[in-house]
Amino acid sequence: MTWNYPKEYDVIVIGGGHAGCEAAHASAKMGAKTLLLTMNISTIAQMSCNPSVGGIGKGHIVREIDALGGLMGKAIEATGIQFRMLNTKKGPAVQAPRAQADKDDYRTDVRQRLENTANLDIKQATCEDFLVEGNHIRGVISKEGIAYRGSTVIITSGTFMRGLIHMGEVNLAGGRAGEAPSVGLSGSLERLGITLGRLKTGTPVRVHRRSIDFSLTEEQPGEEGVRFSFDPAEVPQRPQMPCHITYTTLETKAIIQANLHRSPLYSGKIVGVGPRYCPSIEDKVVRFADKERHQLFLEPEGAKTEEIYVNGVSSSLPFDVQYAFLQTIPALRHAEIMRPGYAIEYDYVVSGQIASSLESVQLSGLFFAGQINGTTGYEEAAGQGLIAGINAVQKLRGKSPLILKRSESYIGVMIDDLVTKGVDEPYRMFTSRAEHRLLLRHDNADLRLRRLGYELGLISEEQYARLIAKQQAVQQEPERLKRTFKQFEGKVGSLAQLLGRPEVDYDMLLRQFPEEVVDHDYETNRQIELSIKYEGYIQRQEAETEKLANTENIKLPKELDYHTIQGLRTEAKLRLSKVRPENLGQASRIPGIAPSDISVLMIFLSRAKREMEECEPLGCSC
Ligand SMILES: Cc1cc2nc3c(=O)[nH]c(=O)nc-3n(C[C@H](O)[C@H](O)[C@H](O)COP(=O)(O)OP(=O)(O)OC[C@H]3O[C@@H](n4cnc5c(N)ncnc54)[C@H](O)[C@@H]3O)c2cc1C
Repeated sequence: MTWNYPKEYDVIVIGGGHAGCEAAHASAKMGAKTLLLTMNISTIAQMSCNPSVGGIGKGHIVREIDALGGLMGKAIEATGIQFRMLNTKKGPAVQAPRAQADKDDYRTDVRQRLENTANLDIKQATCEDFLVEGNHIRGVISKEGIAYRGSTVIITSGTFMRGLIHMGEVNLAGGRAGEAPSVGLSGSLERLGITLGRLKTGTPVRVHRRSIDFSLTEEQPGEEGVRFSFDPAEVPQRPQMPCHITYTTLETKAIIQANLHRSPLYSGKIVGVGPRYCPSIEDKVVRFADKERHQLFLEPEGAKTEEIYVNGVSSSLPFDVQYAFLQTIPALRHAEIMRPGYAIEYDYVVSGQIASSLESVQLSGLFFAGQINGTTGYEEAAGQGLIAGINAVQKLRGKSPLILKRSESYIGVMIDDLVTKGVDEPYRMFTSRAEHRLLLRHDNADLRLRRLGYELGLISEEQYARLIAKQQAVQQEPERLKRTFKQFEGKVGSLAQLLGRPEVDYDMLLRQFPEEVVDHDYETNRQIELSIKYEGYIQRQEAETEKLANTENIKLPKELDYHTIQGLRTEAKLRLSKVRPENLGQASRIPGIAPSDISVLMIFLSRAKREMEECEPLGCSC
C-alpha cells in the first residue's frame, strides 16, 4: 500500500551527502520545486571519512563549485579550523587550498543553508523504488510507503547501496559505521535495467587527543588568508588548530605483514576494488615493501571534540591488530581508539550508463551523481551533484544540458573521464588528469565559470558585477604595465618586464611604484601577476585548446552503427559501440581508440554530411 504525497516536484534528490546537497541547492536556486529525501536529516553533509576539504585537484573542484554558485566553498570557509595552500613551492597550476573542517559544524552549516533555500523541501525517508511511465521516471516510493511524484530524480546514495562493512573477520551490513545500508534501492535499479558493480573504500581509526604524545610529533600550523570562495568572507576566520605529523615504524610493518591473512582485502572476502591512490595501510605495506616507515597526519575532527583522525592508517584489519600496530608508533603508543578503522563495499552504477549530462542513458529524467558513479571524495561528489542539479532543471525547461569542457574545468575533466574512459576502481581527481592544467588553475575558476553560473541563475547580480570588474582589471592592467616604463637597476624597462622576473611579485611592484601600480584585491593582483609571468605558456595552451575545440564540436549521432563504418578496426567498432561518445573529441579519448580511427570517423562524417546536403534538396527521406 502506498500513499500519494499531495505535492508534486520538479526535481527529487535521493541522499543528503555532498552530491545530494549541491544537487538540491542548485535545482531549488534555479527556481525548480525540489525535494531532498534522505535517510537521516541529522547526517546531511556528513563527512564519512577525513575531516578535510580540498587538496590538489580536489581544491580546484571546490573553487569551481563556488564559481558556479555552489555550497561547498562557503561551508568550509565558515567551519574550517585549519587552512593551508598546498604546493606553494611548485607552479601555480598545481597549487590548491586545503582545510581541516569542524565536522559537526560543517554538517550544521550546510543543513542551515539548505533549510533556508527557497523552493526546497527536506524530508527524512528512505527511497526504495521508482514510479516509471514508459521510458520516463515519474517519482519515487519510500520504504515508509509514500509515493512522491517528480519529473526528474537524482540519485546520490554514496556508499550506502548494499553497503557491507569489513573489520577483519567481522562484517556488518551498513552504509557507513553506525548507519543502516540502503538495500531496496539496488534491486529497484536493477529491475530498471541498470547494471551495478562493487567498489570499496576504507577509513582509519580515530583516537582520543589526551592519549597522544604530541612531544613525539611535528606540529603543522595553518596559514592565514587561504580562500575557497570568490565572494567576500561571510564570517571572520576562526583561530586555527594545528595538525601533527608522525610515522609508522618497522615494528608496525611487521605486525601488519604477520596479520595480512586476517585482512578481508587479502583473504579474498572483499570483492570490490579499492582506491589505488588512498591505499589502506596493509596495501602500503605490501605495495611499498622496501619502505621503512609511512607518514601519518593527526588531524582534529573538530574544535569541540577531542577526537583525532589518524590520516594514513586506513585499514580493514581486525580491531585487535589495529590496536597492536598503533602501539608500535611512538606518539600513539598509549592511543585510546574511539572509533576503529574499517573498509566498506558498496554498489555503484557500472560505467557506460550515464551521458555527459549525468542523465541515465536507459531512463529519461533519471540522473546519478557522486560515489554512485564510481568516484571517491566529497569534492568529486559535490561537483557532480551540482551539475546533475543544474541539468535536471535544464531538462525540465527543454534547454541543453550544461556540459563543461575539459579545457574549462576540472569538473568537465572528471565527467568526461567517467563517460568516455569509465572506472574500474574508485576515481579521484588529480591535476595530472587535466591536459590544460595551466588554464585550469584554482585561482581563476571564477573567470572560467562564474558567467555560466550567472546565466543559469545561480550567481546574483552583485556577484556578477564583481566578476566583471575583476575581468576588466585582469584584461587591462597587464597591458598598461607593458606600456609603463620605469628605470630600475640602471636600465629602463616596462613594469610588466619587471614583474615577469621570478623573484618579483605584485606586492613588491606595489611597494616600489605605488603611483603607477593599482592595488586591487589580493585575488585580482595575483591574476595580473600570473598572466604576466606565464604569458607564453598560457598562450600556447590556449592555442592547443582552440585546436582541440574543433573535434569537441563535431557531434557523433546517437544511433550511429559503428559496425557499418568501413576502415574502422574491429576493436574500435566494439569500444565506440560500448561508450557511444557524444562527439569526436570524446571518441579520441576512449582508451584503445587510435588517431587513425578518428581519421576514419572524420572521413565518414564528412561523407555522410555531403550526402545529406545533396539529398535534402531532392526531398529524399533516407
Ligand atoms: C568508510 C569510508 C571511507 C572513505 N574514505 C575516503 C577517502 O579516503 N577519501 C575520500 O576522498 N573519500 C572517502 N570516502 C568517500 C566519501 O565519503 C564519499 O566520496 C563522499 O561522501 C560521497 O558523497 P556522496 O554524496 O556521493 O555520498 P555520501 O556522502 O555517502 O552520502 C549519501 C547519502 O545518501 C543517503 N542515502 C543513501 N541511500 C538512500 C536512500 N535509499 N534513500 C534516501 N537516502 C539515501 C545517505 O543517508 C547519505 O546521506 C569514504 C567513505 C567511507 C564510507
